[in-house]
Amino acid sequence: MMHKKKFYLFANWKMYLDLKNSVMLAKNLCKDKKKFGGKLEMAIFPSSFSFLSVKEALKNTGLQIGSQNAHWEDKGGCTGEVSMYDYKKAGAKYVLVGHSERRHLFHETNQEVRNKIETSVCAGIIPVLCVGETQKERESTKEKEAVSIQLESALNNRNGCVIKKIVVAYEPVWAIGTGKNCDPEEAERMLEFIGEIVAKLLPTAEIILLYGGSVKGENVASFLSKQHINGVLVGGASAKLDSWLKIAQNVVV
Ligand code: PEP
Repeated sequence: MMHKKKFYLFANWKMYLDLKNSVMLAKNLCKDKKKFGGKLEMAIFPSSFSFLSVKEALKNTGLQIGSQNAHWEDKGGCTGEVSMYDYKKAGAKYVLVGHSERRHLFHETNQEVRNKIETSVCAGIIPVLCVGETQKERESTKEKEAVSIQLESALNNRNGCVIKKIVVAYEPVWAIGTGKNCDPEEAERMLEFIGEIVAKLLPTAEIILLYGGSVKGENVASFLSKQHINGVLVGGASAKLDSWLKIAQNVVV
């Protein structure tokens, strides 16, 4: 059992579930919501196709919804994209920005990540900025350098809309979807470092720090017991009811 002000438990369903299974999982989560207690901010990030149906299933439950991605333009000729403003109107509280799968599989650049941060804030959606080093960067002890570049390019010298609240997820690329989670002590060191950089870049913002990468029921408590870790961003284990409930039950206060 953990004792903290508030825990953040974010479920990135990626492209794991079709529409029917997304809605079914959302409805089943609502049934179990009473078990979660009041100090938990749980947010679901379904596919863009399932977003509205999952939002409907989560209505009046206190469970939040976010988008896995969105475009920085408000409208225009951007075939296949969805605008942050549309997500806002549809009820998104959060948006993932710079997830490693976007950076590596879809070649999203630091400049695009920066544009997305800007638009999310102007649209009134809280950005969940994902940063993390590759295996190669860690092997050459460049993990701090890698995350500093990602943070600074996304957040420095801004003159756009004021960021009042930001969530930053430390997600080492080598830990995502591999079953090899980062050692909790190391995640704590990295998140302390990340928190210091973000506080310098955004001195007035509320900063929430998450760890992500192969979190499951068995290891979640060892992350959340750390001082600088406010919550977790979970992929694989969030897309099945039993593994997600196992995580949630380990953080209920
Ligand atoms: C993620 O995709 O953000 C993630 C952390 O995935 P997994 O939990 O599957 O490692």
